[in-house]
Amino acid sequence: MNLTGRQYLAIPGPSVVPDRVLNAMHRASPDIYTGELHEMMPGLCEDLKQVARTTHHVAIYVANGHGAWEAANTNLFSPGDHALALVTGRFGEGWAQSAEALGVTMQRLDFGRRSPVDPDEVARALGEDRGERISVVLMTHADTATSVRNDVAAVRAAIDRAGHPALLAVDCIASLGCDRFEMDAWGVDVMVSASQKGMMTPPGLGFVWLNEKARQASAGARWRTPYWDWTPRIEAKQFYQRFGGTAPTHHLYGLRAALDMLVREEGIEAAWSRHERLARAVWSAFEAWGDGDGEAAGIGLNIADPAFRSHAVTTVKMASPRATQLREWTKANAGVTLGIGLGMAPEGDPAADGFMRIAHMGHVNTHMVLGALGAIEAGMTALGIPHGVGALSRAAEALA
Ligand SMILES: *Cc1c(COP(=O)(O)O)cnc(C)c1O
Repeated sequence: MNLTGRQYLAIPGPSVVPDRVLNAMHRASPDIYTGELHEMMPGLCEDLKQVARTTHHVAIYVANGHGAWEAANTNLFSPGDHALALVTGRFGEGWAQSAEALGVTMQRLDFGRRSPVDPDEVARALGEDRGERISVVLMTHADTATSVRNDVAAVRAAIDRAGHPALLAVDCIASLGCDRFEMDAWGVDVMVSASQKGMMTPPGLGFVWLNEKARQASAGARWRTPYWDWTPRIEAKQFYQRFGGTAPTHHLYGLRAALDMLVREEGIEAAWSRHERLARAVWSAFEAWGDGDGEAAGIGLNIADPAFRSHAVTTVKMASPRATQLREWTKANAGVTLGIGLGMAPEGDPAADGFMRIAHMGHVNTHMVLGALGAIEAGMTALGIPHGVGALSRAAEALA
């Protein structure tokens, strides 16, 4: 493997960690009883709320995204509760299963692997729930497996149209800081995310944002155990209560540096625009590769309608086993690690080999994306994968 030059891990999490974040973490252990860490928390929570576009609450967990799911679940559910899961890929399914494991009866609307949530179906399903047994609608903003981006505001409108009281809980683990998300304006009651994608910090922090409605609903949740209970975390009177024990000291310093970059320097709106530009460059390249000779190789974007593609990650299909060969080539020869296909076909099905993902989330810029695309073109050429021409100039045009 050729390891000269910077390696680019272009998988959808963990994402590239900025040197500033790494350097902020490179320090002796701080005091957890008094001092800087304590003083840092109000600003940190304020910036986290800004990233989510909410004025309500945020709870921080020493956890990854799966932990954030479980944090939301335990505060929202009691055994025997009913919920509705809107599934558009492996991660939507994952959250549904995580709640089912707690004894929640899950109704699923599965929209397949290439389509977004259809809000009309949500309204219909809730309209049929005459006893209003469904207490929460779970959905994924951007599903990292399919790279679909769902219209969260339209789902809220569908819930309201059905006149249903269910809370809306959204997984923004992949999309936060990358795709526009407006928690309060879009009527989201609970949102979960984690540190290692758009938040540019190593894996290890899970976040749950919640509004007053969600907080009140959680009062009766019988799964609300001492560690996962969000109440002490959002209204901590003692510092240790914020984390249910020892604070994740170094991660907090890393996150502080990441939020300085994202919220205080670049600005969230500018970050969303940057991600959109980079995503469009990736899409134009794959569209060009998929034309002409590329049709034989089955090259194409998984989500047809650009309005429903995430700006954080792109899932690409390529006749099996081309995608795997290409990933291996760019990793061994070009310093670029691309993401595997995930949950696009049943395990063991050779079709599962026909997908890969390229992340463009977090600490990425024009030269990184153009470099990754150039490496992909070199790989296709080296491997004799037929592809259309002009992809790199199309990508450059999108970024010019
Ligand atoms: C990455 C991801 C998860 C899982 O996060 P982990 O940190 O791996 O547990 C869940 N949902 C989405 C949308 C993701 O992108």
